[in-house]
Amino acid sequence: MLRFLLAGALALSLAACSQSGEGPSPGDNGEVNIYSSRHYDTDLRLYEDFSEQTGIKVNRIEAGADALIEKIVSEGEFSPADLLVTVDAGRLWRAEEAGILDPVDSEVLAKRLPANLRHPDGLWFGLSTRARVIIYDASQGRPEGLETYADLADPKFRGDICVRSSSNIYNISLLSSIVAHKGEGAAEQWAQGVVANFARAPQGNDTSQIEAVAAGECRLSIVNTYYLARYAGGDEAERAMFDKVGVIFPNQDSTGTHVNVSGAGVVKGAPNRANAIRFLEYLTSDSAQRYFADGNNEYPAVAGLEATSTVERLGEFRADELDVAQIGENQRTAVEIFDRAGWN
Ligand code: FE
Repeated sequence: MLRFLLAGALALSLAACSQSGEGPSPGDNGEVNIYSSRHYDTDLRLYEDFSEQTGIKVNRIEAGADALIEKIVSEGEFSPADLLVTVDAGRLWRAEEAGILDPVDSEVLAKRLPANLRHPDGLWFGLSTRARVIIYDASQGRPEGLETYADLADPKFRGDICVRSSSNIYNISLLSSIVAHKGEGAAEQWAQGVVANFARAPQGNDTSQIEAVAAGECRLSIVNTYYLARYAGGDEAERAMFDKVGVIFPNQDSTGTHVNVSGAGVVKGAPNRANAIRFLEYLTSDSAQRYFADGNNEYPAVAGLEATSTVERLGEFRADELDVAQIGENQRTAVEIFDRAGWN
């Protein structure tokens, strides 16, 4: 269901001017329309703060990413959408493929955001990151010889792995990164090896995997860091569950741990294009980065900024510096590999 939310009761209707070197578009009228698949209270704070700073009113439509992309496509040239905010490079790639994003050339964004976390032509920008890590049943101790994603395919872990379905974008993106690093053949061998080690047919979401490992139903799984941080910073029962799982940041001696982004792109034909760019630039400020990342227990994309103490508690790690755009490019190949490997 779509909800239209107005943020920033104090919003004034001042004309906007961009910091990006692009002048205001002719249609810019003191507001910006954001289509977002995020739904965190901290995001509301960001919209209000932006409105107070700039006088630009923020209108927001919330829905799932695929629904938002479809909506923008069907609205066509009459779409009021200025900015699409969503998670995962795979979804940003879907938006790109749907032809609804327009390149942005902003000195601020180029300077603040690492090159590997944004689209090479400026179609979208990663604003925070999450890592996809291995977890294990702590009651059985840290498994010997499990340091990499590749190790998950080792026959010694037969019957040990619980994982979610291959239709889930996080697994598609993880496999896409393996395709990018090692090629299609090696990626397929890996997928086959992991399938052979399944404890049960793929099911549930990342939260279900954490609960299954904590309950000793499976020894190993693969999950995103922000789910772990939710348990680590949760109520007593959740913290107790967190204590029952161990965390391994894979590939520390090779490519680094797979990371993905929450990000945003300016929509083609955006009626308030300059305001959308200004909002994107605002999101890379130190304080906005903190709120944006904290809203979902993620890591700020801007270098030198720390995550919350709960997130930091998961451990320090070296992140894969693969161009996140390549994760998008390999989505189709990854889906085909999962199909052939029988990872349902
Ligand atoms: Fe998620």
